[in-house]
Amino acid sequence: MTVPRIDTDTIRRLPKAVLHDHLDGGLRPATLVELAETVGHTLPTTDPQALADWYYEAANSGDLVRYIATFEHTLAVMQNREGLLRTAEEYVLDLAEDGVVYGEVRYAPELMLKGGLTLPEVVETVQEGLAAGMAKAAAAGTPVRVGTLLCGMRMFDRSREIADLAVAFRDAGVVGFDIAGAEDGFPPADHLAAFEYLRRESVPFTIHAGEAHGLPSIHQALQVCGAQRIGHGVRITEDIVDGKLGRLAGWVRDRRVALEMCPTSNLQTGAASSIAEHPITALKDLGFRITLNTDNRLVSGTTMTREMSLLVEEAGWSVEDLRTVTVNAVKSAFIPFDERVALIRDVILPGYETAL
Ligand SMILES: [Zn+2]
Repeated sequence: MTVPRIDTDTIRRLPKAVLHDHLDGGLRPATLVELAETVGHTLPTTDPQALADWYYEAANSGDLVRYIATFEHTLAVMQNREGLLRTAEEYVLDLAEDGVVYGEVRYAPELMLKGGLTLPEVVETVQEGLAAGMAKAAAAGTPVRVGTLLCGMRMFDRSREIADLAVAFRDAGVVGFDIAGAEDGFPPADHLAAFEYLRRESVPFTIHAGEAHGLPSIHQALQVCGAQRIGHGVRITEDIVDGKLGRLAGWVRDRRVALEMCPTSNLQTGAASSIAEHPITALKDLGFRITLNTDNRLVSGTTMTREMSLLVEEAGWSVEDLRTVTVNAVKSAFIPFDERVALIRDVILPGYETAL
């Protein structure tokens, strides 16, 4: 019996959840062009389509450091109130358009201070923009809930301050914390003070690990820092030989640690060689708590619909697989348990029933 392929329009209508998506990696090209003009920032091109293509090309270098360097342009327009408000509002609307019903957006407030805003002002402004987006999306009949993760930058030393900020805004839309930036050479334990403080304050956090750097980075993130989820984590496969799990891989699977996997982004940074061979499929089949994510929609030229379509077309995923990673994401979301259960029961599962 052949299983019918799911077409892209059906996939777009499926309810989705995304846990790993950077605000400064997901601007609309046209918005970037307009905002750059208002702040006098020079872009590689001012044609929105050519700019989208430029991003995709530049990000395809196979090198995480170069990939990260493309953020200079998006960050340039996110230094003032106007840029942050618009970016945040459109972020939510774009998620709604993509069929996302729950999203966690992340960004590093410390990279948005060049226009004179303070750290709390940056967070307040982004929350205001997200709230405006959520109100519009709900009014349009495509409600989406977005929680915020604040990122400390792993190569700088402000993570403890950003952890303070996450605690201060925990009742105002911030649901957790992360450290981002170039992984190689900047181990998560450098930021132990931030993680210990967050644990004391019972604020959950995820850590980018196991992307550019291998098992020691994942081990440190989980067992030294105490992360509840892992950003990427693709290199956990190095602890699996012929389907047999080592101690760390066993911990990740058995403790149900969510892996925030981002296939297209991994192809671009060289962490994986093709969608068909991306470890996400093998890890899913081994029972890991896999979640599917976009990472950076502009920089990687992707959406959740596209990531799902690629896995269906190139890695043989079924609609049940798409539902599994969606339910996994909501199960591991940093919002209260009862709200997660309600989202799965009232939105995700019925949405899959209706769409199929
Ligand atoms: Zn990321």
